[in-house]
Amino acid sequence: MADQFKGVINQLNKTAAIMKIEHDELEILRKPDRIIEVSLPVLMDDGHIKVFTGYRVQYNNIRGPYKGGIRYHPKVNLDEVKTLAFWMTIKCAVADIPYGGGKGGVSVDVKKLSSGELERLTRAYTRGFADFIGPTKDVPAPDVYTNPQIMAWLMDEYSHIKGENTPAVVTGKPVEIGGSLGRGTATSLGGFYVFEEVLAKMKMPKKKISLAVQGFGNVGMNFAVIAYAAGYKIVAVSDSSGAIYDKNGLNIDKVLSHKQATGSVINFIGAKNITNEQLLELPVDVVVPAALENVITEKNAGRVKAKVIFEMGNGPTTAEAEVKLNKKGVLIVPDVLANSGGVIVSYFEWVQNLRHFYWDQAKVESHLKRQIINAFDKVWQTMESQGNREMRTAAYIVAVERLVKALKVRGI
Ligand code: GLU
Repeated sequence: MADQFKGVINQLNKTAAIMKIEHDELEILRKPDRIIEVSLPVLMDDGHIKVFTGYRVQYNNIRGPYKGGIRYHPKVNLDEVKTLAFWMTIKCAVADIPYGGGKGGVSVDVKKLSSGELERLTRAYTRGFADFIGPTKDVPAPDVYTNPQIMAWLMDEYSHIKGENTPAVVTGKPVEIGGSLGRGTATSLGGFYVFEEVLAKMKMPKKKISLAVQGFGNVGMNFAVIAYAAGYKIVAVSDSSGAIYDKNGLNIDKVLSHKQATGSVINFIGAKNITNEQLLELPVDVVVPAALENVITEKNAGRVKAKVIFEMGNGPTTAEAEVKLNKKGVLIVPDVLANSGGVIVSYFEWVQNLRHFYWDQAKVESHLKRQIINAFDKVWQTMESQGNREMRTAAYIVAVERLVKALKVRGI
């Protein structure tokens, strides 16, 4: 989608119109502070040099250092990185953690790179952006197709450049070098805490509901594992190869072993193979899109049967689809709240790095629970005060209010 960024600014404008906020502050939030594009020469295994393009968009730092992941995906482009950086600004404000928003990316298919090429690409990215990132400037983290190992290379390269060990330059690191316990599952666990709050508000009892989860990467897979272990019925899951469906419920532990053994969730014994598109239209109570953007669109929104769309990926529902779904009375629990557990525990990791004092997993999880449920309560109350079921708008109101207050007290 070429004009994704335009769409998010429309959402911002809609929010501002409801809040009746002043034009000047809005103008600041409509544009990223800084866009950086760097050429990244990488020595490939065959002896040739390939030049990749790396992006970092520093959207806004009025509430704290820029914060957000780095995405490695063939479809990465500047419009998308700007959009994701804007969402990080909103997300950190909704979660009420002391960060602004940013995002990075490289257009690359990591499945075609060797481990050595991936490491050299990551070190080139770090060198390219070394003057712009740092513990008090801009703190990257994992996103789609980046992981703790990649964060370790980034931390190592940056520490060499600066001549000092600097774990707080990046979050989502392996625990051996300053990563936080619980960071790997934080996005999913945080989402699960919000999920249970939503069900309680909607009076949807655990025993009676069914879920379909789209995406079996770190976020979707761990969400399914946590929900299944808590006794929820998950009737469908998917990955990039396709989806599986069993109306009586899948044994997620067995699906996980099957995926580990075969590389995909499809062809799971006892379940029917369906497509990713069919998964979204199943007769279930909750759909959990946990993969890429723009999967629920104007085209398929009319066929969505779920009562709740729980956005564990960033940007799965388009604005046009949202209008249709709102009219049908579907509750959309927005990405900027539902998946904020990841960046919340990134914040805890950064705090631990800066203090050189490490928490046990129980402390990480109890602080995560408190932080994300506070965010949920504030968004839910705001939605009720608006007298509608538009939870995204409520989340944006909460965020924009905090951002504008910070802008006002700091001055320009
Ligand atoms: N990439 C994740 C997100 O979109 C995590 C960002 C972070 O921890 O900084 O929220």
